[in-house]
Order: sequence, then C-alpha cells, then structure tokens
Amino acid sequence: MIILKSKAEIEKMRRANQVVVEVMKTLATQIVPGVTTQDLDRVAFEIIKERGGKPAFLGYRGFPATLCTSINEEVVHGIPNKRPLVEGDIVSVDCGVILDGFYGDHAMTFAIGQIPPRTERLLSITQEALAKGIALMVPGNRLGDVGAAIQQHVEAEGFGIVRDYVGHGIGRSLHEEPQVPNYGVAGSGLRLKAGMVLAVEPMVNEGTGAVKLLSDDWTVVTADAKPSAHFEHSVAVTENGPDILSLH
Ligand code: MG
Ligand code: MG
Repeated sequence: MIILKSKAEIEKMRRANQVVVEVMKTLATQIVPGVTTQDLDRVAFEIIKERGGKPAFLGYRGFPATLCTSINEEVVHGIPNKRPLVEGDIVSVDCGVILDGFYGDHAMTFAIGQIPPRTERLLSITQEALAKGIALMVPGNRLGDVGAAIQQHVEAEGFGIVRDYVGHGIGRSLHEEPQVPNYGVAGSGLRLKAGMVLAVEPMVNEGTGAVKLLSDDWTVVTADAKPSAHFEHSVAVTENGPDILSLH
C-alpha cells in the first residue's frame, strides 16, 4: 500500500530531512585525511540528538551505527570503523533521522582530497542522474520515467547501475512501498501522485553494476572492486512539481 502524505506531514518530513542536511554540511567540513568513519559517526549522532531526533539506522535490523559509511568499492551499508580516510578515497555517507514520527533519508559521496579524474566523473554523473530522475517526479509521470532517466545518464557514460538495491517510499516508516529502481522503461510502472514521498538513491559503479555482500552481512561491495558512488534525496511529489525535502 502506498501512503500519501498531507502537506503538514510533508513539512514534518522536511524537518527530519533538514536534520540530515545539517549532519552532511558538518561532515563536509570534517571529511579530511586522517579522520575515521567512526569519528564521523559520533559527530552525526550528536547533531541528531541535539536536534531532538533519533538516528534511524542505529538498531535497524541490528545495524550498529548512526551512519552507513561506504569507502571506495563499498557501495552501501558500510559500517563505520577505525580506518583513517586517506587522500584519494571516496566515502559514501548515508544518514537517516526520525523526528516527530517521520523519517528523513539522504546520502552523498565525498571525495577525500584529490581523486582520480574518472572517479571525479563518477561522482558528478551520479549526482546528475539523481537530478534528472527527480525532475520527472511530477503527478502523472511514471516510476519507469524516473528510472529510465537515471539509467540512461549513467550508462551513456559507461558506468554501471546497481540493480540489487533500490530506492523506496518513506514516511512514518523508513521503507515504505513502492520500490524505486534506478533503471526502467519510460512510460511504464506506477503512476506518480501528489502526496507520494520517495527516497531516490542511485548507486553507480565505475565498472559493472554487479555487487556482492561481505561476510559482515551488511557491507555491499562492487564485484569488480572498482569504486562506487551513492547520492540520495527524499522527494515529495506535489502539484507544483518535485519538492526535495533534503535540499541543501
Ligand atoms: Mg539512505
Ligand atoms: Mg534510502
């Protein structure tokens, strides 16, 4: 069942997402060589607590941290650890917050210092693909329009779309219907309606889209060990067009 949100509920979701935005803005100033993802996790936890929210991922199906931090070939769901980040790394940071009964969910990939040009391109293309998908989130369009726009932008560059993990509806639960694939056929799939709130989150690999799960049962990595990027926004479909609740 897809749960449509009222304008008041969308405003609550914006507030939850804006706590995540504040986390990302702070982390952006702290992601430098030598910092560990555990350090970042602590910073995120403190900001969320100060704002009266709760980390959405901590304890979710037993996940042990506030952030998912996925370095280089790690795609999503990496667990913060003590490995210092070094120049040339990329780190995908995904953060969820519960505030006043509603969830916010937003992710970005950060570069640590200078990174290879192809990886720089990977980050830009993933962000652009997300923007192209979001632009089509208007009432009457279909989910396939969104997925196809993302897929085309990524594949035109020779990068691989991850198909094993997808975006999702979001609201009073972190994961609601529908699933939001980052691939698809234009003109097909669910018709979008005002009041839908969807977390759109392309995971894009520098090589193929194939992934595997590590033995910690959380960390997803690329099958070919090449880098992967992840950008996510929580977006409300409204009569006035897409409303990015996690806008900076
Ligand atoms: Mg997320
Ligand atoms: Mg999500």
